[in-house]
Order: sequence, then structure tokens, then C-alpha cells
Amino acid sequence: MRATLGWFLLLALLAAPLGYVAAPWLGGCLFAIALVLGLQLVRHQRDFSRLERWSRQPALDSQLQGAGEWDVIFRRLYGHEKELCGRIARRERDIARMIAAVHVMNDGVVLLDGQFRIQFCNKTAERQFGIDAASDSGLTLTNIVRPPELSDYLARGDFSGPLTLRLERNFERLLSLSIIAYAEDSWLVHVKDVTQADKLDRMRRDFVANVSHELRTPLTVLAGFLETLQEIDFDAAERLRYLALMAEQAKRMQSIIQDLLTLSSIESAPPPESDRVNMARLLDKLKRDAEALSDGRHQIVVERAGQGDLCGYEPELVSAFANLVGNAVRYTPAGGVVTLSWKVSPQGAEFAVRDTGIGIDAKHIPRLTERFYRVDRGRSRDVGGTGLGLAIVKHSLNRHQAQLDISSKLGQGSCFTARFPASRVAQAEDQEDAAG
Ligand code: ADP
Repeated sequence: MRATLGWFLLLALLAAPLGYVAAPWLGGCLFAIALVLGLQLVRHQRDFSRLERWSRQPALDSQLQGAGEWDVIFRRLYGHEKELCGRIARRERDIARMIAAVHVMNDGVVLLDGQFRIQFCNKTAERQFGIDAASDSGLTLTNIVRPPELSDYLARGDFSGPLTLRLERNFERLLSLSIIAYAEDSWLVHVKDVTQADKLDRMRRDFVANVSHELRTPLTVLAGFLETLQEIDFDAAERLRYLALMAEQAKRMQSIIQDLLTLSSIESAPPPESDRVNMARLLDKLKRDAEALSDGRHQIVVERAGQGDLCGYEPELVSAFANLVGNAVRYTPAGGVVTLSWKVSPQGAEFAVRDTGIGIDAKHIPRLTERFYRVDRGRSRDVGGTGLGLAIVKHSLNRHQAQLDISSKLGQGSCFTARFPASRVAQAEDQEDAAG
């Protein structure tokens, strides 16, 4: 453009003297050329100003048009800019998607710089550690997560194994932290909540210990009797007495194993197909069984309100209800009353077993359905209990969307109620027969 300007000035300056001295047509020609150059200059200047304005704030401006070679340049720039904007938008979308995915992860993620200062943290880590990503960014992680185990772990710098932390402010939760280097002077902290896994692991260990303990007692007694029988030559009557005691211990082990198998089959097998359980018939059977177990020592009463049967897997329901009835008889001294009741209402149905027995102290009630939990171990053993009955009841009821409620007063009696939702109630068979 500078060259055009030079030519324009030179020709314009030469045009008048040449026209005057040489020939007017030559001056005229020179003037015309200077005019064309001048016009070109104006056009270049206009397009250049457009470009200059655009370069200050490049935007996707399809209106950026120029003349001649300017138009080619403008279109090329427009193409580049459009492609760049598209690439940036795509990348921003990808980054936003990745950040959103990191935020919804169940595990916490914290990014730290070389000095362990927080650069980023996802929502889960915010909850786990109580970090406020907006205001705590740039703070050292140990300023927020106080346990000294973390400072020691970071100071040691050996991140080959994870660190397990129980946080003071959130002591219910157990967190496992793994620190991974992901770029130069950058650390990724992966935080896994292992509370549930730890609880399950503890339960599994307790369970194995309990089973071993429960089986070891009768086994020790059995082994002792066997040894005695081998060493001492008893008379026939004494021998029979020992054999009866041994049979009792063997039966005890059988009951424990039977209950364990029942529990495991309930836990592992999917819920079976539902059948209609005729409650009138079932109540009758439960009453007869209770009377047989009681052997005339208790009064067994059956109450019914409302019409309806249950939809469910009969063997499981029978075993759950029989467990409740058996407990009521076994934990109620002679002369007491055991009441079985079946109530149907539009909200659902409930099967309850009420007794006037020994009752249970309130502090034991929340733990009664735990495996092998007994209020009085000796008493449970005396009445032939395994400590697994209520665990079986709870699992069976859960599979029928039912809930077990326990209320009891020490020395006065207990009431165990299985509450079923309306979806588990079917029109009673005898009702149907009447309608038919
Ligand atoms: P167990 O085989 O020992 O009876 P359960 O799981 O059936 O085991 O019951 C757990 C504990 O709950 C029992 O050991 C007993 O202490 C208490 N329990 C259950 N039912 C009754 C009841 N009807 N009255 C008093 N205590 C009961």
C-alpha cells in the first residue's frame, strides 16, 4: 500500500508540469493513472481498516468482505476463525462433560499441585472432606483434612499403598485415599468410601467366629463324652444316659447347621414365585404346632380381623411365622397366653404373635435380628434356640416387602408383628368360594 501511495504522489506531482511543458495528453494520462491509484488506495485503506478493527476483536463475522485479493484473505481468515471457534467450542464441551462426569463419580477426586495445594475437587470429595471448592482452592489439603495421619503420609511421600482415614468430624465414615502422580508436580487424590465394605468385612469375620464358637461348644461336649465312654466301662443304663446326652448335642449342631443353610438359601436365592397362602389354614396349623410345643402349659389364642390371604412363598412364610410362634411359647413361662393374630385392612395386612412371657429389655430390641444375638445365651440354649431364628424371620419378611416390628416390656411379654403392604394381600379363598 505504501508503494501505491508513493506512485500516486509521484504521478500526481508530475502530471501538471508535464502536461504544461510537454503535452497536455501526457499530463492527462498521468493524472488519470494517479486518479486510479488514488481510488485503489482509498479501497485498500477501507479494507485495511476493516481488518485492523477485526483483528482487535476477532469474531466470527461473515460480513467481513473486501475487494479483490482482500476478499480472498478475508474469506481465508473467516474460514480459519470459524474452524478455530468450532474446535474451541468442541473442546470446551468435552472438558465440561469430563468435569460433569468427575463430579458425579461415587468416589472423591482432588487434584493437588506439587505443594499439595488444592487445584480442583469433585462434589463427592467436597462432601467427604467438607471442602468448599470455590473458597478452598489453593489451600493445602492438610489445612482442611486435619488428621495427622494424612500429614505424615504426605510427608513420607511413599504413595505405593493407600491410606485409610477415619475422619473426626465424620467418624462414622472410613475413607481410603490413594495418591497418584498424573503430571509433573501434580497429584490426583482418589478417595474411596470403604465404610460399607469394612462393615461387611467385620460382619463376615464376626459371623465366622460366631459359627465356630456355636459349633465348638456342642462338639467339645460330644468329644468329652466319647472320651469318657472309651475310657470307663459304664453299665448299660449309664451308657444309655451318656448316649442320650450326646444325641442332644448332635441335635443341637444339626439345628444350627439347618438354620445356617436356611439363612444362606434365603440370602442367595432370588425370591421365588408368589403363591396364595391360605391364612385360615395356616393359622390353624400354627395353633396346632404351638399347642404341641406347649404341651398344655399355655393358652393359645387366634384372632382374625378383616378378610384376605397373603401372596408369597408359602414355605418361607410358614417358617418365619412358626419361628415367631415357637419363640413366644419357649420364652413364656407355663400358664401364659400366646395370641396369634391376622388383620387385614386397606393399608395392608399384619401377622402378630403376642405373648405374656419374660419380655425383652428395650436395649436388646434393635439387635435381636442379628445372627446369633441372644438376650440370655444360657436360656436360649436351654430352650433349644440357635440364635438364628429372628435373622431368618427378618430375611424372609424382607423378601416379601414386609417389616418386622418388635415391642416388649421386660417381665410382661412381647409382641412381634410382621407388616405386609397391600400389594401382598389377596382376596381370601373362602371369600372367593362364597362369591363363586
Ligand atoms: P433363639 O434361637 O435364641 O431363640 P432367635 O433369633 O429366635 O434366637 O431370638 C433371638 C433372641 O431374642 C432370643 O435368644 C431371645 O433372647 C429373644 N427372644 C425372641 N423371641 C422372644 C420372645 N417371644 N420373648 C422373649 N425373648 C425373645
